[in-house]
Amino acid sequence: MKKDDTVIQRMSELLRSGAVMLDLACPICSAPLFRLRSGEIVCPTHGAVRVVKTDSEAIEVQSQAVLDKLEAVATSRISNITEALHRVDSESGEEELLDQLERWLEVLERVRRLKLATTKGGKSG
Ligand SMILES: [Zn+2]
Repeated sequence: MKKDDTVIQRMSELLRSGAVMLDLACPICSAPLFRLRSGEIVCPTHGAVRVVKTDSEAIEVQSQAVLDKLEAVATSRISNITEALHRVDSESGEEELLDQLERWLEVLERVRRLKLATTKGGKSG
């Protein structure tokens, strides 16, 4: 019932499989991280994580996670509103939906721009 129990169970499974608990915390949930025998670093909750060495890097990873979530919410809202636009049969209802659509598109656009800004153009393509 408690979420903590699952994490503790995962942690003991990791230890049993030969993983080593590290002096590092997950940037997302701040659970202790483990190094597997393969050398991969994992969080008991999130699985494989990017290892961060500084606080600012941790904040960056955390804000990426928030932006990812917000992008998902905005995308699903936009899709819902688009669906509703198919069914709406009054002009005032349509206007209201378009209003909402515009706002969510703005959110989505901003999220995407922020994501680009925080990744600092390290990737090509
Ligand atoms: Zn985690």
